[in-house]
Amino acid sequence: MKEDWEEKLACAVACSSCDKAIGPQDLRILSSYTHLPICMDCKKTEEQRPDYPEVSQGMIGQCMIETEILYGDIGSYCYHHFYPFKC
Ligand SMILES: [Zn+2]
Repeated sequence: MKEDWEEKLACAVACSSCDKAIGPQDLRILSSYTHLPICMDCKKTEEQRPDYPEVSQGMIGQCMIETEILYGDIGSYCYHHFYPFKC
């Protein structure tokens, strides 16, 4: 279970927001709202949301809480809210 997170989250094959396919070489980033991988287009849209500054302030802590319950301790994963990454 705990080893699954990388495949499920980091190597997701589609944007969790718009369902656009994400290839292994395409950059993706974590949503500040759902902590799931989204495409860069959706990230730009997210940044326009009026509550984004507020949400982004607490997102690392929130991500750690949510992902620890589901996947165990994957703290560094949460920093991909800031850094686009590849699978
Ligand atoms: Zn998308």
